[in-house]
Amino acid sequence: MPGATLQWLVLTQSERSNQLSQQRTKMINRTILLFLLVPILLSAQQIQVTKPDVLILTTGGTIASRTDAPLIAGLALVQAVPQLTDHANISVEEFSVIGSSKMTPKDWLTLAQRINAQFSKNDNLAGIVITHGTDTMEEIAYFLNLTVKSDKPVVLVGSMRSANEISADGPANLINAVRVAINEQAVGQGVLVVLNEDITAARDVWKTDNRRVQTFQGSNVGHIGTVDPDGVRFYHRILQPHTTSSEFDVSNLAALPVVNILSDFTGIDENLVRNFGKQEMDGLVVRTFAGGRMSTGMLVGLASLEQRGTPTVITSRVPGGRIVSAPDYSFSAVISNGQQDNKARILLMLALTRTSELSEIQRIFDTY
Ligand code: ASP
Repeated sequence: MPGATLQWLVLTQSERSNQLSQQRTKMINRTILLFLLVPILLSAQQIQVTKPDVLILTTGGTIASRTDAPLIAGLALVQAVPQLTDHANISVEEFSVIGSSKMTPKDWLTLAQRINAQFSKNDNLAGIVITHGTDTMEEIAYFLNLTVKSDKPVVLVGSMRSANEISADGPANLINAVRVAINEQAVGQGVLVVLNEDITAARDVWKTDNRRVQTFQGSNVGHIGTVDPDGVRFYHRILQPHTTSSEFDVSNLAALPVVNILSDFTGIDENLVRNFGKQEMDGLVVRTFAGGRMSTGMLVGLASLEQRGTPTVITSRVPGGRIVSAPDYSFSAVISNGQQDNKARILLMLALTRTSELSEIQRIFDTY
């Protein structure tokens, strides 16, 4: 301090006035900075307290069920979990109150159109959560993955236990689904399934167990993230095109093409295959044994259907791995790119909205 005083004393008049003016400038700068920072800090605080908007679309399923009563309506289902509002501003829309085995392709189409309408009319919507039965959750997940036109999270959630069972998993799954729907890393990941604290991508997700809560697994990368008590974590990003980068547009579609699935079994009668092929359909998915290999009855039956010209996709009943070096069939067919029969059916439906050329359908299968 004495050193500083001494230094001050030896300054010339002009140096002193220079220093004073520098100090004045510094003070003015600090005041301006303060004026600029205060509103920014205030609005940052406001951002922290403003919760994101999430729409919950309810469709039914075990998550909306009690073992002793009819299915719970949408609003009641969501109101039974008041903790949801700790995370987001929740709005509810009841789409249906049915088990997912009763869903139809028409329902898928309506649901996709409803979701797209919600995103385009409400910019503030952070994400959409759909409560749904687990039996056909993989179908709706893949369909929406290819038809929703937004990068914002769309999360499917269900439960394996009814609301009145011991350790019902529905409420925690629903909270976790909302937490994923508002998580910024979920943006651009396509449609996700959240159950049992696991996040699984639509293309890979499949139901593996009739009863246990860890039923959903992912056939290629496994789960892509987890919902932990302290935060949502993602470990993978999805590479296949989906949502905004998908080429499918169902906005003006009134119905989806009809695609049936025919499953092979040892010793199948070729006439059964022929009769199946007489049905009116736009496309056919064949579920073969491993690697695209088929029984003789199926091979002969399919060859006799060739002249009908129904686009046919070959899938394998084995959930993991692609069909590589498929046998040389005596009929034309598209080879699925790891999509199992139920998802291949969806992709063929969507492909047929654009083309019936087999080479183009093959390109679509190789892409999605
Ligand atoms: N029955 C139910 C369904 O709607 C099964 C479930 O949700 O877990 O798919």
